[in-house]
Amino acid sequence: MPFTRTEEQKEQRKINYKNRTEEQKQRDREYTKTQREKNKDNIKLTQKNYHDSHKEERKEYNKKNREHITEYHRQYIQTDLGKKINRIGNWKNSGVISDNYDELYELYINCSNCENCGVNFEEKNCDNRKCLDHSHTTGVFRNILCARCNKKRGEGNL
Ligand SMILES: [Zn+2]
Repeated sequence: MPFTRTEEQKEQRKINYKNRTEEQKQRDREYTKTQREKNKDNIKLTQKNYHDSHKEERKEYNKKNREHITEYHRQYIQTDLGKKINRIGNWKNSGVISDNYDELYELYINCSNCENCGVNFEEKNCDNRKCLDHSHTTGVFRNILCARCNKKRGEGNL
């Protein structure tokens, strides 16, 4: 006979969970962390097995829901978070290395003028688009520039 809880017991557990003291919460977090660390390889393996054994299902699901997924993605990248994740992803792809992408993004979105020529950024004007200038040798972020200045710097003329 498997162990089952009554509805009442389940409710009580929820209440207990909610009423934990900060100290208990901290201890629980620590415990989860250690357990995860201990079982790291196992967890990875389980995830991999799950991933592998559901390949066909996933393919099938994606095929069936392609329109829905595309639409969802289209809407998602228009949200603030979507834009942010998309932008940071592009930076990483183009070789920008940072230990704080969040901070870099904050800097980026709050910057309204080219740090070299002072022009006002305009998304619709190709030359005045906002660019994140970074060193192609180290990946380190240097400036926020308009496309025109960024191009000049790329050519070594700035
Ligand atoms: Zn400029």
